[in-house]
Amino acid sequence: MQVTDPETVATYYQALIDRNPRFVGIFFVGVKTTSICCIATCRARKPKRENVVFYTTFKEALDAGYRPCKVCRPTENANEAPSQVQHAISLVRNNPKRKVTDWQLKQHKISPEGVRRWFKKHYGMTFHTFQRMYRINNALEELKSGKTATTTAYEAGYNSLSGFGYTYKKIIGQSPKNNNTMQNNVIVINRFTTPLGPMFVCATEQGVCLLEFVDRRMLETEFKDLQRLKKATIIAGENGYTQQAQREINEYFSGKRQIFDVKLDTPGTAFQQSVWQCLQTIPYGQTASYQQQAEKLNKPKAVRAVASANGHNRIAIIIPCHRVIGKDGKLVGYAGGLERKQWLLEHEQKFAAAQ
Ligand SMILES: [Zn+2]
Repeated sequence: MQVTDPETVATYYQALIDRNPRFVGIFFVGVKTTSICCIATCRARKPKRENVVFYTTFKEALDAGYRPCKVCRPTENANEAPSQVQHAISLVRNNPKRKVTDWQLKQHKISPEGVRRWFKKHYGMTFHTFQRMYRINNALEELKSGKTATTTAYEAGYNSLSGFGYTYKKIIGQSPKNNNTMQNNVIVINRFTTPLGPMFVCATEQGVCLLEFVDRRMLETEFKDLQRLKKATIIAGENGYTQQAQREINEYFSGKRQIFDVKLDTPGTAFQQSVWQCLQTIPYGQTASYQQQAEKLNKPKAVRAVASANGHNRIAIIIPCHRVIGKDGKLVGYAGGLERKQWLLEHEQKFAAAQ
């Protein structure tokens, strides 16, 4: 939880100034100016009070976009990590753009299962999720720092986007091809918070093309697919569509909106498009099974293909894949997590009933 009680914030800030070891693991402090997350004893220069945010867990700081500090190393030091875990984290830190695989861990005589267990226990996330968040927060920060130059080119009509290969390279690990169409298109990305955690919203000039919780599985694959399908580069920023989506999502969470108006841009196969269209016909507050969806599409045998297209939906909530449940009424897979799916369905049922 983000700590908002003024007295607690004052106590924590004093502990931060005093480098008080009793507060290690009690709070994680995000420094807004640098997007770095620290523990109380950090030796780095202390930030001004107006520039800090306190969280009670490390995961929340990471979810809010902060990266672990290289000086105080919150991951290793907040809950004394065994040497194998420390080693694994140092591999991530030294390769911030690449995934550290189980095979690589084993090469370093580290047990992948041990590392996974430790992360689950202390931070409520897998090592895999930790790595992904670390990479994404890093990439986003780089996109943000390139924003001034980017915005300039953006406003100049995208004529000189050649310098932006570097951000692309950093987010997906390879240079865009040297052709003009590739570099003429731009996808803007922004993050905002919701009661279920922060989300990314992306939009092209045609509409919203992605809306996902920041810890969603396969998020980097979605970024990669979008850039390929739209022949575009992702840059940090907003446009009218991202702003409209944020506004509508806020209204949805406060129970004031059941139908979305924002325009969508959903590149995909014709079949995927039809499945995504069909999802949008499931009314607010109701659910359907994959089988029912397949029948609605006149493809009663294509249940698995329907499920797969559902899984490829990049626009959470607005294209309501959370309204699809198993045949027996059970909740089934949701890339944003089953707890969120349950929450969304209950939320909708509450407000649909009130109508
Ligand atoms: Zn620090």
